[in-house]
Amino acid sequence: MLAILFEFVFWVMLAAFVGGLWSGWSGALFLAFCVATFNFGLSAWRSQRLERWLRSTGLDHPLKWSGVWLEIGHRIQRLLKQREKATAELEQRLRDFLQAIQASPNGVILLDSEGRIEWCNGTASAHLGLDIHRDHLQHIVHLVRDPVFSKYYAQDRHHEEVTIDGRAATLSRNIKLSVHLHAYGEGRQLLLTRDITTLAQADAMRRDFVANVSHEIRTPLTVMSGFIETLQAIPLEDSERQRYLQMMSVQAERMQSLVADLLTLSQLEGGLPPRQHNTIDLPEFMAHIQSDAMALSAVLSGQEGDERTPVHDFTFSEVPAWAFSGARSELISAVSNLVSNAVRYTPAGGKIELSWLRDADQVTFAVTDTGPGIAAEHLPRLSERFYRVDRSRSRGTGGTGLGLAIAKHVAQRHGGELRIDSQVGKGSRFSLVFPASRLVETENASPEMPVISRE
Ligand code: ADP
Repeated sequence: MLAILFEFVFWVMLAAFVGGLWSGWSGALFLAFCVATFNFGLSAWRSQRLERWLRSTGLDHPLKWSGVWLEIGHRIQRLLKQREKATAELEQRLRDFLQAIQASPNGVILLDSEGRIEWCNGTASAHLGLDIHRDHLQHIVHLVRDPVFSKYYAQDRHHEEVTIDGRAATLSRNIKLSVHLHAYGEGRQLLLTRDITTLAQADAMRRDFVANVSHEIRTPLTVMSGFIETLQAIPLEDSERQRYLQMMSVQAERMQSLVADLLTLSQLEGGLPPRQHNTIDLPEFMAHIQSDAMALSAVLSGQEGDERTPVHDFTFSEVPAWAFSGARSELISAVSNLVSNAVRYTPAGGKIELSWLRDADQVTFAVTDTGPGIAAEHLPRLSERFYRVDRSRSRGTGGTGLGLAIAKHVAQRHGGELRIDSQVGKGSRFSLVFPASRLVETENASPEMPVISRE
């Protein structure tokens, strides 16, 4: 600025000097006035040119001026570039921030001081069925039409979150959302939504489980305390007392089996996967299972004394000299449960077959029986804890309702699955299907194992 002033004064003084030489005071004044006017005009034209350049040309456009105006132009150019860079950085940061909120698994909705939607991320849209273009600046209470939410919104303070039904909830799939309002800025609110369907389901399952266990334990406990009261109150014949004690022992055994199965299940659910290098010798393992199966068949027949014999027609297909890599105790639990079910549910005289089969990808342990079979509608739920088709039959034969849940867990922990094929009136086939890599060849290995027959 000083340079421009100095330049102006210099030219006016020079004009006055030349004018004075030319025609005295009047010449000096006239020429100084002309030069001053010309200078003003020139400065006005230059500043207009600068303004035009600032408005129309890009900042990278080279400046063609000279002198002090070139310096002014360069400085403005530099300042504007710095500001443009800072704005771009801020915009990028805002975009990153919005992208991060978009990626959040939780829904985020920004409400203005009137409770109208200013912005929401994709998760919130999906949770509450919002469309940010359509619903922009709509009142949240008009869109989330849940009485629980309306009541919650109307409160002054929102210390806690509330649970409402999600927009995508259907009869078959009930979506539960936890929503929480937070105040920020000047009267604005942030609405956070979280899908808690899985948590709610887990909570319901835990409650069901506790109720089921209590129910299972309460029945034998009630029976036992009834017998104890009778034994205490009434003098009984020795034979009668023995009969009562025998019945109490059955109930105690039932509770023991239940507790044992619950422990097994909790170990399976919480434990580390079985180690791959533990191997089970299949022929020896199956000999043990076969003798247990026959003993159980004999016990359940109700025969008395040492002469008890199995009442089922057993077929044990040949077990090749292979080893199975997995946890022995777990495999015993799974296989014994399937075998015990076949024995318990198949009427005397029925056929039960135990077999190990393999193909290129899988190795399968199958128990096939000619028992009552199971109707198709029960099959999907059969391996749920405490699910029973025939309650009295299950309890009457010492079932805990946990056998198939255990078998399914064991199969899954060994990379396999439990398959159930059954037809009412014809019988059932329960199979534990494992990856073929679970079979390990032993020294006496027989080259072939029976190949799966898929009827
Ligand atoms: P439970 O201890 O009651 O046998 P499980 O989990 O082992 O419990 O089996 C669940 C239900 O599946 C049983 O209550 C029974 O109704 C049915 N079930 C299991 N195995 C058989 C089978 N071999 N034949 C017929 N029904 C079976």
